[in-house]
Amino acid sequence: MTGRLIVVGLGPGDANLTTPAVSKALAEATDLIGYITYLDRAPAGPPGQRRHATDNRVELDRARHALSLAAEGKDVVVVSGGDPGVFAMAAAVFEAVETGDVAWRALDIRIEPGVTAMLAAAAEVGAPLGGDFCAISLSDNLKSWATIERRLKAAAEGDFVIALYNPASRARPDQLGKALEHLRSFKAADTPVIFVRAAGTSDAKIRIQELGTVDVTSVDMRTLVLIGSSLTRKIERPGASPWIYTLRSERELS
Ligand code: SAH
Repeated sequence: MTGRLIVVGLGPGDANLTTPAVSKALAEATDLIGYITYLDRAPAGPPGQRRHATDNRVELDRARHALSLAAEGKDVVVVSGGDPGVFAMAAAVFEAVETGDVAWRALDIRIEPGVTAMLAAAAEVGAPLGGDFCAISLSDNLKSWATIERRLKAAAEGDFVIALYNPASRARPDQLGKALEHLRSFKAADTPVIFVRAAGTSDAKIRIQELGTVDVTSVDMRTLVLIGSSLTRKIERPGASPWIYTLRSERELS
């Protein structure tokens, strides 16, 4: 089998945040697979490059399709936003390999990392991920709400900065409110909550609030939510959005 499959992450939006390694993989591919919105962000490839746009929500089916094309000898690139290993297609590809045709294990499969939303969002406001942090997806079509609540509580008890991916959608409008309500039992009311929409693009929008009085209306699927730890600080600035950062050492607080 000579085919190749590369799972790439385009980064958060701006073309400057797509790595050269990802651009090279896109430029060399015979076949691109991914959501139409991501494929539209990939620059035009070589003549004859095929684009398999999908609105298929079943990631495993898309992964199997990509693997079958690679097994036919194609140079396949599966396109994700951000990083392909963070709540995205790379894990689906490996699950398809583990459960699929043993011949797929001989394929040349690679992952090309990208700038994940959490890093782009953090950079928009300062350095909120300067201390220990964790990432949780609020999408509960892949896990139960009980699991999400258990992880939120553990993250709060561990005093991690928390990055929330997939905070809300039309199908799940109430989840973010429920998640923050749950966190209010474990974290101080003045904990900063930062909403960054379209991080790493020229449309980026930042809102900084406090956990006790947070307003979750207008949060959508292009928003990343960062919730501070006890070491997260705010530096007010005249006429500008404050800087947010998290102290690297708990000694600074004493
Ligand atoms: N693989 C992607 C994440 C996929 S989950 C990555 O590494 O970034 C999709 C979620 O990511 C969205 O609901 C949103 O919470 C977040 N997201 C993706 N791009 C974003 C951006 N430019 N700004 C803010 N959040 C973003």
